[in-house]
Amino acid sequence: MFRACTTVGAAGKRMKFFADCMLGTLAKWLIILGHDVRYQSKIEDGALVARAARERRTILTRDRRLVMRRAARDPILIRSQDLERQIRQVLDDRRLAIRTDCLFRRCVRCNRPTRTVTRETVRDRVPPYVFRTQRRFARCPSCSRIYWRATHVTSMLERLRKQSARRR
Ligand SMILES: [Zn+2]
Repeated sequence: MFRACTTVGAAGKRMKFFADCMLGTLAKWLIILGHDVRYQSKIEDGALVARAARERRTILTRDRRLVMRRAARDPILIRSQDLERQIRQVLDDRRLAIRTDCLFRRCVRCNRPTRTVTRETVRDRVPPYVFRTQRRFARCPSCSRIYWRATHVTSMLERLRKQSARRR
């Protein structure tokens, strides 16, 4: 799962987003899926729009007024309050596929790209059960947080896949 995440066609592309302060959980999940998502819990609307434009990021917001701002280029107005529907809306809107080889390529805390580390180096840093059952680990170079494929992530991906399968 920590293999190089290459861009293959439209379905495999990784996006750059800027999530507004109401969408912290959505931001976290999009990062888990391998996207580059900036999120600040406190930022004024004008500053958010300006920064998103400068960094060429797609704004994700639940605020209709923010979408109306002229400087907001091609934002996505998130309709639902439900996390799964929010994730699905973003993926559908930009035609993004879930790529399991891109999971945890970024740190959910810092949004920095993670680096693959050998299993031995995390022995004392993860719970014994995780060490026994997981083979692949990655580490954030900035905050040192260790990542592996946790069960709650796998089940969320499974639900997202079922949702899209139902609609086809
Ligand atoms: Zn980090």
